[in-house]
Amino acid sequence: MQTRFIFITGGVISGLGKGIVTSSIGKMLQFRGFKVSACKIDPYINFDAGTLRPTEHGEVWVTEDGGEIDQDLGHYERFLDIKIPKSHNITTGQVYNEVIMKERAGKYLGQTVQPIPHVTDEIKRRIKENAKASGADFFLVEIGGTVGDYENILFLEAARQMKLEKNPVLYVHVAYLPIPKSLGEMKTKAVQHSVRELGNFGIQPDFIIGRSDTYLDEVRRRKIALFCNVNEEDVISDPEIENIYKLPLIFEQEKFGDKILAKFNMQPVKPQNEKWVEFIEKVDSIKEEVKVGIVGKYFDIGKFQLPDSYISVIEAIKHAAWHNNRKPSISWIDSKIFEKKTENLKVLENFNGIIVPGGFGKTGVEGKIAAIKYVREGGIPFLGLCLGLQLAVIEFARNVCGLEGANTAEIVPDTPFPVIDLLPEQKEILKKSNYGATMRLGGQTVKIKPNTLAYKLYNCGEVVERFRHRYEINPEYVEILEKHGFVFSGMTPDNRIMQIGELPNHPFFIGSQFHPEFTSRALRPNPLFNGFIQACLQKTFNNNLLS
Ligand code: GLN
Repeated sequence: MQTRFIFITGGVISGLGKGIVTSSIGKMLQFRGFKVSACKIDPYINFDAGTLRPTEHGEVWVTEDGGEIDQDLGHYERFLDIKIPKSHNITTGQVYNEVIMKERAGKYLGQTVQPIPHVTDEIKRRIKENAKASGADFFLVEIGGTVGDYENILFLEAARQMKLEKNPVLYVHVAYLPIPKSLGEMKTKAVQHSVRELGNFGIQPDFIIGRSDTYLDEVRRRKIALFCNVNEEDVISDPEIENIYKLPLIFEQEKFGDKILAKFNMQPVKPQNEKWVEFIEKVDSIKEEVKVGIVGKYFDIGKFQLPDSYISVIEAIKHAAWHNNRKPSISWIDSKIFEKKTENLKVLENFNGIIVPGGFGKTGVEGKIAAIKYVREGGIPFLGLCLGLQLAVIEFARNVCGLEGANTAEIVPDTPFPVIDLLPEQKEILKKSNYGATMRLGGQTVKIKPNTLAYKLYNCGEVVERFRHRYEINPEYVEILEKHGFVFSGMTPDNRIMQIGELPNHPFFIGSQFHPEFTSRALRPNPLFNGFIQACLQKTFNNNLLS
């Protein structure tokens, strides 16, 4: 079947959840037996998301092939349960880089190299090549940013040309309808303006998705249809929902899936979505909670905080909690509070389990180490993710092995006991200040030691998990750590790098050098998160998971 393209644009405000809409459209098409893939266009000049500040842009998603890319691709993977390669994140930086390299290599000899057609051709080439390589029946292209931004103009132009060139193309525009408190009424004007703006680029949307606090009513639907030149039935509601995984089913209520097929002159197909419906119904019916605390580093953006910087961790907790019939109650604990006052550590008692997620730099690190000591000694279930494992090793080295002042060379380069040190291959890279895409990245094989908690959780001797780090557990300290009871239950197949660490005499204490959150899927929780949630529940009941 010829690949069909669906472009998704956004209007009025950013942060509308276009990624969730894109994933939900993909899910509806999957329900109908089609092969789906998706790509995200980010109009910034950065080559990839690896060097972006997570508090500003949200978390960096790591693909199996080692890409550091936009978090929306995480939603695609979680909803669609497919592996998305790094080439599916297209940035302005990549496109211009390619065009300039080609120009220097004499590929455009004699021509004036211009945004149109050369840059737009390069954009289309990437989209088509990705679609072809994925073998998808439907290829979704989410254009980042908001219509009206300077930076996505050329991407909109490329999207327009795709249709002109007679590719099968649909345009879906997601736009926000505010309900100002003083009026108490849903307003459509901003949507009208954003569709008009899109029209300036020669794009007439086939569907308008009305993102608002509630469902659209008939009045709003009619108004949007009239002013934006679409059929009433092609205006679709995207209300605020507690559970984002419900959106494909909300769209199904409006027959959105079949409407998409009809626009491509295809027959309707009965969606095979029983499993998804069952999953949503189960989540809706859950009453009991599991309380998880995430001890991390939080920056305020003005008056607001951005929990998006840990979005995959949150989703992974949800998947595992739901799988175990629990509603996750997730609390953010700023580790700096433990540095100010040690009595604050008592708040950790309020949780069934504690997670220390990944991170970089020294802010709040001593607070995290104090929290890890508290949960280690108190038998509170603990899951450490990347930096979380490294800090657990530091805590153990200091307080159990007696290596006073042990630290990571990332924070204290001249520490007397560098129990966490740069990976040898990273030393040269950092000398050259070569920061972009140079960490140990992406899917790597982890060999798992039999008769360990890790083995029990994964139930196999080898897994592939996703990494993003420059530092490692210093091999010189493995022996002393092990002598005192720390167990390294996962390592590289050549035994060189320690990749999972655990404490056997604890209800549940495990950390991984990789990020298990990147392989957690809506219907398939990651084994480490699943085990962690089970331990959280056991702790409530009998406190002894391993017996
Ligand atoms: N900063 C640590 C390292 O580079 C941990 C990275 C992380 O948590 N992703 O190794």
